[in-house]
Amino acid sequence: MSIPFTYEQYRSILKRMKKQGYHFIDFLKMNQVQPQDKAVILRHDIDFSLEKAVKMAKLEHELGITSTFFILIHSGFYNPLSLKSQSLLRTIHSYGHQFGLHFDDSLTEGTSEEELKAQIIHDAEFLAAILKTPIHYFSFHRPSERLLQANLDVTPLINAYSQPFFKDISYISDSRKRWRQMSLEQLIEQEAPQRLQVLIHPIWWSDEPLTFEESLTEIVQEQLKDMRSDFEAVLAKFPLEVMEPFGLTIPRKEAQS
Ligand SMILES: [Zn+2]
Repeated sequence: MSIPFTYEQYRSILKRMKKQGYHFIDFLKMNQVQPQDKAVILRHDIDFSLEKAVKMAKLEHELGITSTFFILIHSGFYNPLSLKSQSLLRTIHSYGHQFGLHFDDSLTEGTSEEELKAQIIHDAEFLAAILKTPIHYFSFHRPSERLLQANLDVTPLINAYSQPFFKDISYISDSRKRWRQMSLEQLIEQEAPQRLQVLIHPIWWSDEPLTFEESLTEIVQEQLKDMRSDFEAVLAKFPLEVMEPFGLTIPRKEAQS
């Protein structure tokens, strides 16, 4: 019964936080905050869609807020190296936001801790190279409980799930489109913690209230649309018969003769 998860609701929560005196800071600045000041680290893990990430980036920018977007490099849903992704990532950066590495540990399952750390550092360097900006932080994608509790030290990178940002301060997440003990709104209203990390997944937020399933469907449809138009662009250069079995639009009728 708590559906909204709309941009309107998100905007109103952020406005309320600003009104309450929260400073929106990054991980590096947490220990520079004055003890009497309220501070929040706003983090986004991008699991599915850079388009949704850009929407959130723009909304926050309009409110004068900056956050950190954690990017996957091994995802099957988006490729940060594609021309389209590069343009979307540049847009996010132009709004003043930062990037971190969203690391999928299934890649290193069963390896030693040293190998895991080496892979994280390797991937962060790769991400820094393709985004042409320094990467200081990483977060785990769908971490196991063991990894969440491990407090893994990958210096010089900051682990978003390490103790100073996960245990020592308040932490709240919209994972699986569900708040746990209380919603972000309730947390701000009732407890207003002095130090806070908020994890928001752009996939769950939209113009209209959507269920969990509808949010996923929205992404699938967006991906299908993109794939279809990419195919059409490529296949426009091929004989038309190639496209028909895929049910794709034939853009060059005159070439049929
Ligand atoms: Zn994730």
